[in-house]
Amino acid sequence: MDLFTLPDFDGHEQVLFGHDPATGLRAIIAIHSTALGAAAGGCRMWPYPSSDEALTDALRLSRGMSYKNAMAELDLGGGKAVILGDARVHKSPALFAAFGRLVDTLGGRYITAEDVGTTTVDMQQVATTTRFVSGLARGRGEVGGDPGPKTALGVFLGIQAAVRFQLGRSLDGLTVAVQGLGGVGQPLCRLLVAEGARLLVADARAEQAERVREELGATVVPAQTLLEQPAEVFAPCALGAILNAQSIPRLRARVVAGAANNQLACANDGEALMRAGILYAPDYVINAGGIINVAHEYRGGSTEVAVRAAIEKIPERLTQIFERARRDTLPTSTVADQMARERLQAGRQG
Ligand code: NAD
Repeated sequence: MDLFTLPDFDGHEQVLFGHDPATGLRAIIAIHSTALGAAAGGCRMWPYPSSDEALTDALRLSRGMSYKNAMAELDLGGGKAVILGDARVHKSPALFAAFGRLVDTLGGRYITAEDVGTTTVDMQQVATTTRFVSGLARGRGEVGGDPGPKTALGVFLGIQAAVRFQLGRSLDGLTVAVQGLGGVGQPLCRLLVAEGARLLVADARAEQAERVREELGATVVPAQTLLEQPAEVFAPCALGAILNAQSIPRLRARVVAGAANNQLACANDGEALMRAGILYAPDYVINAGGIINVAHEYRGGSTEVAVRAAIEKIPERLTQIFERARRDTLPTSTVADQMARERLQAGRQG
């Protein structure tokens, strides 16, 4: 394998492979860009079938973080870590302490946080060996902790903006199909219902859907059929690559706006959505609430009011993207990438 010719290699500044025999840690940290500041992005733990696949994920996700942080107007670059292993089997405090030592060798060029397969408790272990970690459990009144509810707030405001732009109306009386009812999906559902939206929900785990039905009166539908339900908005809050050549023709929604990372299976899918007359809120712009929260926590001295004010810029940014996409007849995903690259370029020159 030649790192520098891999399709997902995008001029990454640094890639670090780490191994700790005592704890079984095998990890890769990819730093895509520090043009705007220290590279920030979570640590994913996943049972990758091979280190090639883990590397591909680290390269792709770290580039995504550069774009996300640039669009969120954070003084942060893009990075990501992956730990090869099954989070249900291979976790131990010692493993996360070893991961912290690996992060620490970078001297602050990379700041880690929780991600898929890791939690604030794991990050507490990481914090025993490095200070370059965020997303830690916090006390009352302190900024930070679980980023899920903050991501949900940004997604909610983004859905409002997309509905206003595409349908010229509020959420009251409108139907939103929410796929995935975890750390982001559930708080999102609460915000939507408070604005008068009706919910169609699905989760691979029946008990999650049941909880939302009981609490919010949502209608539960089988996960395989959610895409084709009659809803104005489809909010993917589960897996990536949900928007693809098979799923897009089945969609009945006029707006797709949700928290999941990497929603488009490939770049062409952004074009397919545009052609189908569906307004797509680019994932890394609408789901930036969590990283905004993490950034404020990491810097310290911030307040809930400041975090909220930063998250409230997400709908403005999305509206700028929607307007530019309409003006230039381009997919919103293409416009978001263009804007992110412009910001990175300005950072490199600045
Ligand atoms: P989570 O693991 O807490 O919840 C995901 C939920 O999706 C689970 O309940 C799971 O059972 C369900 N699910 C999985 N496959 C499904 C399927 N095929 N159909 C229906 N449901 C399915 O994750 P989360 O923290 O809520 O994050 C959701 C998404 O948002 C992920 O893609 C994540 O990468 C992204 N995201 C999260 C944050 C954050 O702050 N947590 C920030 C940015 C992006």
